Amino acid sequence: MNLRVGVDLGATKIQTLLVASDGSIVARKRGTTPATGGPSAVLTRVQETIEQLLVRADQPATAVATIGIGAPGQIDAAAGVVLQAVNIAGWDQPVPVAGIVGDMFGVPVALANDVQASIVAEHRLGAGRGRTNLLGIFCGTGVGGGLILNGELWLGGGAAGEIGHTVVVQAGRQCGCGRNGCLEAYAGRGALEQTARLQYDAGRPTVLFDLMEQQGRTRLTSRVWLDACLQSDELASGLITEAARAVGTAAGSAANLLDIDCVVIGGGLATRLGDRFLGDVRAAAQPVLLRPETANQIVLSELGDDCGALGAALLAGDRLAGS
Ligand SMILES: [Zn+2]
Repeated sequence: MNLRVGVDLGATKIQTLLVASDGSIVARKRGTTPATGGPSAVLTRVQETIEQLLVRADQPATAVATIGIGAPGQIDAAAGVVLQAVNIAGWDQPVPVAGIVGDMFGVPVALANDVQASIVAEHRLGAGRGRTNLLGIFCGTGVGGGLILNGELWLGGGAAGEIGHTVVVQAGRQCGCGRNGCLEAYAGRGALEQTARLQYDAGRPTVLFDLMEQQGRTRLTSRVWLDACLQSDELASGLITEAARAVGTAAGSAANLLDIDCVVIGGGLATRLGDRFLGDVRAAAQPVLLRPETANQIVLSELGDDCGALGAALLAGDRLAGS
C-alpha cells in the first residue's frame, strides 16, 4: 500500500487524514491539541491521533509511505523545523517536528505552513481547481493566507501570503502582531473575542458568553459565533459583518495587485458562517475591485476542515516522492 498521512496541527485541534495516492480520503481522525505540556505533549498527541487513524482505517503503520504535517507560524520547510508558533501553547522555541515524528513512525516526514498546504489542496482538489492565480484567505484563530501564481505555490522568501497582516484600516484596531489595522485584528477569532469581551464588559448586551458557557467552552468558538448570529445577536452580527467586510476589502486589493482569478475563503470561522459571510465579503470587495464583475470569483472553501491536512499530505507526496 502507498498511503499518505496528512496532519493539520492547529492551536485547538489536530486533524489527521489517511489519503490514497489519487488524493481521495480513506479515513479521518481528530484529536485535541493539549493546552499544557509544550511540544512534547503536542507531538505525543499527534502520534496517538495517527495511530488511532490507522486503527480506524484497519491499516498497519507499514502501509504509510509519507507523513505531511501542516503547522501554523514560521516554518523552515527544508529543515522540517517549526521556528515559532505563537498560537500553540509553549511553542516559542524551534521544534524539529519532522525529525521527531519521523522517528516515531520510521517514514519520511515533510513539514509545511498550514495555510500554504490549504491553498495547495484547494487548488488541486477543491474550489480552485483549474485556476491559475489563486489567493486563499483562511479565518480561524488568526487570519492566514496562501498564494498560487502561475499554477505554483508562491513562497516569496518563505513567508508569502500573509494577508492577515495587510492593513485594512489606517491606524485601526491593534493586532496581535503589535501593528495596527491588520485584517487579522478584524477577522481573526482571537481578535473578535477580545473585541466582544471589551464591549460586553463596557455594558453592551450579547448572548455570546452565555452560549459559550452553555456549550461547555472557554473560548468563543466558530459555532458560538454562528449560533449568536442565528439568534440575531446585535453585537455578534455587527462584529461578523465587520469581519467579512475587512476580508472583502483585503481580497479586492489583493486581486487588483496580482490579477487573481479566484479567491478561496476558508478556515473554521468562515466555513461555519458560510454563505452569509461570503455574501458580505463579496459586497465589500465589489467597490474595491477594478473589475467589479469578478466579485463572484470569491468563493468558499470546498474542502473545509480537511484542507490543511489534505494539502500537507499532497505536499509531502510531492517533496518525498521516490525517497
Ligand atoms: Zn498584524
